[in-house]
Amino acid sequence: MNKPYKSATRLLRAGRPHQGWVNTPVTRASTYVFDSVAAWRDTRTRREQERLPSYGARGTDSTHALEDALIELEQGFRAKLYPTGQAAIATVLLAYLRAGDHVLITDAVYEPVRRFCAEHLTRLGIEHTYYSPDGHGIEALIRPNTRMIYAESPGSLTYEMPDLTKLSTTARKNDCWLAVDNTWASGLIYKPLTLGADISILAATKYLGGHADVMMGAVVTNDRAWRALERATIDFGQTVGADDAFLVLRGIRSLPLRMAQHARNAMQVATWLLDRPEVARVLCPALPGDPSHAIWRRDCSGANGLLTIELSAAFNNADAERLIDSLQLFGIGASWGGFESLAVPVQLNTTRSLPSATPHGAMFRLHIGLEDPEDLIGDLEQGLSTLTHSPRSIRIS
Ligand SMILES: *Cc1c(COP(=O)(O)O)cnc(C)c1O
Repeated sequence: MNKPYKSATRLLRAGRPHQGWVNTPVTRASTYVFDSVAAWRDTRTRREQERLPSYGARGTDSTHALEDALIELEQGFRAKLYPTGQAAIATVLLAYLRAGDHVLITDAVYEPVRRFCAEHLTRLGIEHTYYSPDGHGIEALIRPNTRMIYAESPGSLTYEMPDLTKLSTTARKNDCWLAVDNTWASGLIYKPLTLGADISILAATKYLGGHADVMMGAVVTNDRAWRALERATIDFGQTVGADDAFLVLRGIRSLPLRMAQHARNAMQVATWLLDRPEVARVLCPALPGDPSHAIWRRDCSGANGLLTIELSAAFNNADAERLIDSLQLFGIGASWGGFESLAVPVQLNTTRSLPSATPHGAMFRLHIGLEDPEDLIGDLEQGLSTLTHSPRSIRIS
């Protein structure tokens, strides 16, 4: 018997034609025609169980190829694609929850999900409660009508990691689905489905696409969660275009290389920042002092380019914003996972519901791109120098 290939090899082979072209050609299509009414009817009866070409919205060779690569990446059963990561999240919440149900949501959730819950889950009679991003105390929040635990690991902006194995035990015991936003790892360096999750959500817009030129979301599920997701996805008319699917699949071929380099660059920048007196903390689970470091070591096989910087108590939000404005190599913009570096202010008081255990200083988030880290450090050095030459300290007279 042949030894199974290593994951990097399998990822390069996933979603490719069995012969001929190296890459699956782009299939732009809506209508699929059949030889006979009998063949048309046969496909219509089988297409909910099997992946068959039947209509563009239900998938083409291009989207099926990308789904195959994502299934390989997440070690899942099947996958569906969405026009954005947010659309993927909305579909998951609506696929598994109904009026009268209750869902537990991590307090470190990707921010737009908060409004989705407040407006749409509430409107539909679905209750939600936020739980501590490290998962502590979640048992006490379970109600008889709790049907889902929604996690994000690591969490947005602050990167807390729950013990997913424990969360999955809690979910099973209480007959709940466990859904995880796995965008941070982009399926590569953390595998929620192998740790007991039912549903893994990906913003492919980030590292999977990897080049800041395409929007996409994806959901990969295990066997038991598949049917509800597939039906809801079809009922909501969610699909993606073949050109976008092609771009994401192309991005996946270099994902392991890019991710490793983002992480190397980020570690170099973090190490430099931690030596600076203006910096109180650098948040990133791959750093030894981080509260989630032990779980990261146990459950992750790498890191990415995200760092959140907390300035020391001498500085406020206006200082952090002035610093960001002074940076030359870091764009000020949403999203991350492209090749380029980005910076944005972080204000936890507007993105968290639970009171924070420890007060914290002014914060900003960096996405460390693939530029030479020495250039990024040089830019941050001149940025930090704007703090000590701040208008506040000059204004004394
Ligand atoms: C960006 C992001 C999303 C949403 O992805 P879009 O494609 O921008 O809608 C969801 N979850 C997390 C954790 C993200 O960072």
